[in-house]
Amino acid sequence: MKLKLAGKEHKNQTIVSVGDVHIGGDELVLIAGPCAIESEDQLFETARLVKKAGAQVLRGGAFKPRTSPYSFQGLGEEGLKYLYQAGQENNMPVISEIMDPRDIDMLDKYVDIFQIGSRNMQNYSLLREVGKGSKPVMLKRGMAASIKEWLSAAEYIVLEGNKNVILCERGIRTFENYTRNTLDLMAVPIIKELSHFPIIVDPSHGTGRVELVASASRAAVAIGAHGLMVEVHPSPCDALSDGIQALDFHMFEKLSKELLEIHNCVNGL
Ligand code: PEP
Ligand code: MN
Repeated sequence: MKLKLAGKEHKNQTIVSVGDVHIGGDELVLIAGPCAIESEDQLFETARLVKKAGAQVLRGGAFKPRTSPYSFQGLGEEGLKYLYQAGQENNMPVISEIMDPRDIDMLDKYVDIFQIGSRNMQNYSLLREVGKGSKPVMLKRGMAASIKEWLSAAEYIVLEGNKNVILCERGIRTFENYTRNTLDLMAVPIIKELSHFPIIVDPSHGTGRVELVASASRAAVAIGAHGLMVEVHPSPCDALSDGIQALDFHMFEKLSKELLEIHNCVNGL
């Protein structure tokens, strides 16, 4: 499989910058927020507290790719308006998932990073479309994708001209069903070996269980991830999506401190 643009050969490490956040360098970048934006209050409270606890980027889904069409699908553009405002108020870049190429111009007004979800990793028309601009794209690993297939999907984005790609390991489907997915942490050093793009880890979808999120996060930082994306909710048991894998504020605050210590230790800082 040819990786002319996403492959490492003859290329320096890519650092994707959004505002004063730099993903892919020495800094550990924490992206945090709810799975889904549910209300103005929920998002603003989360933004304020994750920022205070050390997160640099705010996440929140407005278009949710739910397994069942009867589950909460997200607030759509109304949610994106809250996300934009919460980002402005807390001086944080924001990220949200794009599911449909027809929504690009609309999402472009509100988000700093486009998220391509696991289910769309091989949606080649969507990849080509986000590739035509220069806005950073976080490409999550497909739940049944090999590392080479994932990098090949990144190649579609770069081929259109957009070099601001961030890769996100979020677990793959295996026969193990104790966890929601099997978090493939080996993908971190492998991506660093094969590609120049930053690699971040999503321990929330990677485990699907709140009690495992801290362990997975610590391991991800120790193995060299450039950042993490973690789901945080003010009241996980009331969440409209993915409540069982969401950290509350107290847990996130504690975890964030531990991760910084591990990062400094591993990098001799
Ligand atoms: C998400 O980040 O909210 C999400 C839906 O993740 P994934 O695409 O990895 O399932
Ligand atoms: Mn989620």
